[in-house]
Formats: sequence, C-alpha cells, structure tokens
Amino acid sequence: LLDVSHLEKHFPLGKTGLLKAVDDISFAVYEGETLGLVGESGSGKSTTGRTILRLHEATGGETLYQGFDLNHLSQKELKTMRKHMQIIFQDPYASLNPRMKIQDIIGEALDIHQLAKNKKERNNKVAELLSLVGLDEGFAQRYPHEFSGGQRQRIGIARALAVDPAFIVLDEPLSALDASIQAQIVELLEELQEKLGLTYLFIAHDLAMVKQISDRVAVMYNGRIVELADAEELFSNPIHPYTKKLLSAIP
Ligand code: ATP
Ligand code: MG
Repeated sequence: LLDVSHLEKHFPLGKTGLLKAVDDISFAVYEGETLGLVGESGSGKSTTGRTILRLHEATGGETLYQGFDLNHLSQKELKTMRKHMQIIFQDPYASLNPRMKIQDIIGEALDIHQLAKNKKERNNKVAELLSLVGLDEGFAQRYPHEFSGGQRQRIGIARALAVDPAFIVLDEPLSALDASIQAQIVELLEELQEKLGLTYLFIAHDLAMVKQISDRVAVMYNGRIVELADAEELFSNPIHPYTKKLLSAIP
C-alpha cells in the first residue's frame, strides 16, 4: 500500500546545524497489516508518521501510496490523499476542539470532504460512527470535556474514520490511558481493522502492546530504522544490538 524510500526529514538546529530527525529510511507497509514502529523518545517515530502524511515536508526521499508520489501532489490531490490517510494522536483532548459538540467535531470531517448531502444525513452518519466505536449516539450533543480519556480516544477514532480512510497512523494512541482502557482500545482498533480492512502504522512505547497488535515491527534509533522483521521473529530473535537492548528492558 505504502512504499517509503530513502525518506529524510531534517530540521535546522541552531545557526548552522542540522538535526536528522528522519535519516534515510526505507520500508513498505502492506495492505491490511499493522506495522509497529518502536524506539526511544526522540528517535524520529512521530516525525516519520507526520512526514509520510505530509504534515511535514520531507527534505528528501520518496513516499509512494498506491503508486502515487505523495511528495509531489497538487492541492486537489493532497485533499484526496487526506481522505485516504488519517492520523490519531496520543492525547485526543489536545486535538478535539473544546468548544465544539462531538456532533460538529465529527461532522466537520464529513463536511470537508462533502460526505453528507444534508443535515439529516450528517447527523445519521455521526450517530453511525459513534456506534462503530462503541459510543452512545446521544453523546453527539455533548462536549469533549464531558468524556473520559478512553471515550475521548474513541471520539478521535470516530473522527478519523469519518472520511473512510484506508491507512491510519496511530501515534501512541494508548499512552495517555490506563492499562484496562488500553486493552479496550486495542480491541476496538483490531476489530475496526478487520471490519474495514484498515492498514495501520502503529507507533508505540509499550513493547508488549506492539507485539500483540503488530504483524511486523520496525525499530528506530537515531532517525534510522535499524531492524525490521515479523513481530514474532523480532521479539524471539532480535539481531541488532539496539533491539536486543530495547527488548532486555521488558520482563
Ligand atoms: P517520542 O517517543 O518522545 O514521541 P519520537 O520518536 O516520536 O519521540 P520525534 O518527535 O519524531 O521523536 O522527534 C525526533 C527528533 O526531531 C527529536 O530530536 C525532536 O526534538 C526533533 N523534532 C521533532 N519535531 C520537530 C520540529 N517540528 N522542529 C524541530 N525539531 C523537531
Ligand atoms: Mg512521538
């Protein structure tokens, strides 16, 4: 589905320096799979996800999505791409407008891509999306602060799903939640993947969770991918010294 080759994202550092946040990485994401992306804080995971989705301009390399070069799109193509590819963040509270009702937060995503003909259809779609993520449709009339962290993450997921995407970057979607809620959200994500045929790039710190949800796992260190393998293989037989070190930290 996605082919990333020699992707680079450099940020200016001080007056003359250069921070190679993403430094010449290449990998593919296959349709329907979950590719886990792990590595210590600052290794470049979020920057990778954001650069793929064009939230950052790449400083080098190429990203092909179904054969389309994402780094060279017209405005119109970019909009279409945003319908296909979504991102879900760690703290949904930060990305849900506190002054908007859930109805409008999700409805806005539908409006941008003209996915509802009228108000009635829009409201129905919002209700459908809420039920898809396990929330009561009555929640549509309420505001983000009225929900728990887990519920807010469900709302964030519903908003991402509003445009019927095929590929979703999950940037530490569980980190702000406690363990029992994490398990529920993982279950929801897996159920949605199956039902909707979604492809995930799953960025996470929690290796046990990554092992559970991923088909394959890429390990990032210092802006580079040092190892990429099937999840089982990587966890049972890590090759790169950094992967070994990372895994030795889990009991
Ligand atoms: P974490 O696990 O803490 O989320 P990460 O692996 O997601 O870390 P990134 O957020 O991708 O790491 O950051 C990689 C490097 O790029 C860091 O050194 C960070 O300071 C730098 N960086 C990220 N975004 C920017 C930006 N917008 N401007 C300048 N530097 C940035
Ligand atoms: Mg990050």
